[in-house]
Formats: sequence, structure tokens, C-alpha cells
Amino acid sequence: MTVDAGQVAGAAYIVAALLFILSLAGLSKHETSRRGVGYGIAGMVIALVATVWVVAANAWGDPQAMTGLILLVAAVLVGGAIGLWRARIVEMTGMPELIALLHSFVGLAAVLVGWNGALYDTGLEGALADIHHAEVFIGVFIGGVTFTGSIVAFLKLSARISSKPLMLPGKNVLNLGALVVFVILTVWYVITPELWLLIAVTLLALALGWHLVASIGGGDMPVVVSMLNSYSGWAAAAAGFLLNNDLLIVTGALVGSSGAYLSYIMCKAMNRSFLSVIAGGFGIEAPSGAEAEYGEHREIDAESAADMLAGASSVVITPGYGMAVAQAQHGVADLVQKLRERGIDVRFGIHPVAGRLPGHMNVLLAEAKVPYDIVLEMDEINDDLSSTDVVLVIGANDTVNPAAAEDPSSPIAGMPVLRVWEAQNVIVFKRSMASGYAGVQNPLFYRENAQMLFGDAKDKVDEILMQLAQVPQS
Ligand code: NDP
Repeated sequence: MTVDAGQVAGAAYIVAALLFILSLAGLSKHETSRRGVGYGIAGMVIALVATVWVVAANAWGDPQAMTGLILLVAAVLVGGAIGLWRARIVEMTGMPELIALLHSFVGLAAVLVGWNGALYDTGLEGALADIHHAEVFIGVFIGGVTFTGSIVAFLKLSARISSKPLMLPGKNVLNLGALVVFVILTVWYVITPELWLLIAVTLLALALGWHLVASIGGGDMPVVVSMLNSYSGWAAAAAGFLLNNDLLIVTGALVGSSGAYLSYIMCKAMNRSFLSVIAGGFGIEAPSGAEAEYGEHREIDAESAADMLAGASSVVITPGYGMAVAQAQHGVADLVQKLRERGIDVRFGIHPVAGRLPGHMNVLLAEAKVPYDIVLEMDEINDDLSSTDVVLVIGANDTVNPAAAEDPSSPIAGMPVLRVWEAQNVIVFKRSMASGYAGVQNPLFYRENAQMLFGDAKDKVDEILMQLAQVPQS
């Protein structure tokens, strides 16, 4: 009995698809996330081996297919080596821009697959040819938007270009107009598949992707990143249709829908409308831009901070991007342990967009072995903040900014934040009075109950630990 390579690959693809589903399920909880990553790796290895095997089986005795096999193996080796190298050297704080760059590759691949599908004579006729042409057009469009959108996101996240929103006049009309033109061109291409139409839709998609993400500013970037994640999934699914590859379709749909769901959760967390994001970026409407005068800020040193902590009965820590930059999580975990040994109730309050990628703070705290049960979501802790003795804001800024709740003209107005200012005392760990990612001033720093502890967050936490050891236990 001869084994059909295609059928074996088909079976392997089903196993890989199931592993990807298990991976997503595993990644949804702290306790199972490691297993989830394992399932994902296993699924990807099976998918790659099966794909190479099918190509190898067909290459036997066919010089052209053999060239394809050699190219495939070379591409996998080169791509794998670059991926391994980048993943090894990337800092945790650089992950979002790396992810944005990887999304752009998916977009570019979808554009190339689409073009290949258009230039390659499939021999299809009638309705099947029409469907093929529509697939080409849709694949190129989604891929093009994903490609340039992700490049702009990469440039913004890595601070190579300003994160300020581009405010072209009538930007929503431009986005909507581009979608209408796309629909018209698609119908046209299905009726008469001429090359210039494909060139036109490619240029249109590249321009639209650029404009969509360029129009979105500072604090709204988390939603854009997860939205591009979703788009890259749909781009992969579109490529799967063109290549007749079931696994690519399933995987693309999984990424597309889970990315869309993540965008929905992020939109809810940021109090933004999901539909307006999907319809082309909500941007920021005319920020006030005025530099308000909030008065004087007060400072505290590590010794006084240690005294204050030793005298507290409840402490809440709200970490942000600065904790990741300073790599202060291990010191913070030690501090938590020391305070708990003194009988002080210590908990964490995690904002859904703290840091630079979803779950950023949870990952850091898990790495430092902070018990999960004291790490609470923003909604779980917010009502308890008014009865908390001391809040330690460690490298967070936008996520604890009262302007979001109190100033309707603020660019981050309406975004739910951790209401740390309601606590008895707030200590803010940061290096200067600089604003956070959204570039918005923070009135918290000038509140009567807030004191600034200037310096690198890790150094300051270590200093507090040293000072705390000197304070006798009451
Ligand atoms: P912010 O980016 O608002 O602020 C971080 C603060 O950390 C800065 O004000 C900085 O102040 C301080 N800081 C930096 N380095 C250090 C250091 N070594 N030691 C001490 N402090 C330091 O952080 P948040 O986490 O509060 O908010 C996240 C922001 O990022 C939001 O605007 C969110 O929308 C955006 N974003 C989030 C993404 C996500 O998926 N989570 C993705 C993309 C963007 P100073 O320089 O004075 O030290």
C-alpha cells in the first residue's frame, strides 16, 4: 500500500490545528500558559514538518519541484535562524514592536501570495475563476493594509516616529472612501481581471494601512496592536484560500478571531467603541494641548517611604511600563514578601493596558514568583483603593492619571484608570516629572496625598528594602 503524502499532511494539519486551539485555551490562564506555549510549539513543528514532507515527496524526480524544495528548506533555515536570534536578544519592553514587525511580514506574505495567484494561470473558468479573482483581490487588500499599518505601528512603538496622531482633514471620509473604492475595484476585477486593477488595489491598501495607524495616537496604540494582530490572521487565512491550504485557513481564522476578541476586550477596557476602531481608527479628536498648571509636587526619600510602609496596614502596588524598563519586579516581589511577613496586607492592581503589551505586568510578576491570588485586575481593586493606606505607583503614569476620569478635554478622557489618588498616601516611583506614553500631563503628581520618589525604580525599591530592614517590627 502506498502512502499518499497529501493525505498524511492533511491528517497532520488537523492535529496541528487542534494543538493551536489547545494552545489558545492554555494561554488564557496563568496556571496553564506554559502548557499553552508548549502546544503551540508542537503544532507549529508538526505543521512545518508536514509541509516540507509534502514538498519533498512531490520533488522526487521532478527538477522544478526539487528547486522549490531547496528554496523552501533554505527559507526555513534562514528565517528560523533570524527568528531565533531576534527572540533571544529582544528585551521584554521591545516585544510590542517586534510583534508589530512580525505582523508586517504576514501582511507582505499575503500580498505576494495574492500577486502570485493573479499571475499564475490556474486554468479555472466560470464561477470558480471569479471566486479566485475575488480571493486574490481580498488577500492583497488585507495583506497591504496589514503590511503598512504594522510598519507604522513598529515605527511608533519603537519611537522612531512620533506617536502623535496624524490629523489629515476629513480622515474618516478618506478611510470610508478607500473602502468604497476597494469594493468597486473588486467587482471590476472579478468581471475583467486586468493587471492595473491589481496594482491600484495594492497601492490603495498600502496607503490605507499607513493612514489608519498613523491617525491613531499615544494611549490608543494597544488597541491598534491587537487589531493588526487580527488583520494579520485574516491576511493569512486569505493566503490559505489562494494556496488551497486548510491549515493556513484554520490558523488564520484562529488568529483573526482571537485578535478581534482581544481588540474588543481592550476597547472595553479603554472605553472606546469597537465598531469605530474596525471602521478605520478612532484617532483622537482635537486634544486640548494646553499645559495646565497644577502647582508644586512633593518628594519623599527611600527612608521615609520605608517608615510609611512599615506603619501601614494595607498596601496596593500599581506597576506600569517603568517597572519593566527598570526590571524592578524581583525587588518588588521581595518587598511584598517582607511587608507580608510584617502582617501588612499587600495586593497588586493591574491596569489592562499597563506596560506595552497585553498582560505585560502579569508576565513580569509571574516571572518574579509573586503569588497569583494577590494580583488583581483594575475592576477588582478600584473600589478598595479609598480604604488603602499606601499605594506604590511603580513606573506607571497614564494608567493612574486622574485626568482620564476628571478632564473631558484630556486626550485620554474616558479611559478607565486605577483611582490611586483616593488612597491615604501615594508614592510615585519614576525618574522625572515626564509624561507617560500618551504624552499627557499627570495631575496625580501634584495631589496633596502624593509624593514623588525620583530615581530608577529598581534602585529605589532596593533602597527601601535596605531601609525597611532597619525599621523594628511593631
Ligand atoms: P506609561 O508609559 O504611561 O508611563 C511609564 C512611566 O514609567 C513613565 O512616565 C516614566 O517616567 C517611568 N519610567 C520609565 N523608566 C523608568 C525607570 N527605569 N524607573 C522608574 N520609572 C521609569 O506607563 P503605563 O504602564 O502607566 O501606561 C501604559 C501606556 O502605554 C498607556 O498609555 C497605554 O495605552 C500604552 N500602550 C500600552 C500597550 C499595551 O498593550 N499594554 C501597547 C502600546 C501602548 P520617567 O521617564 O520620568 O521615569
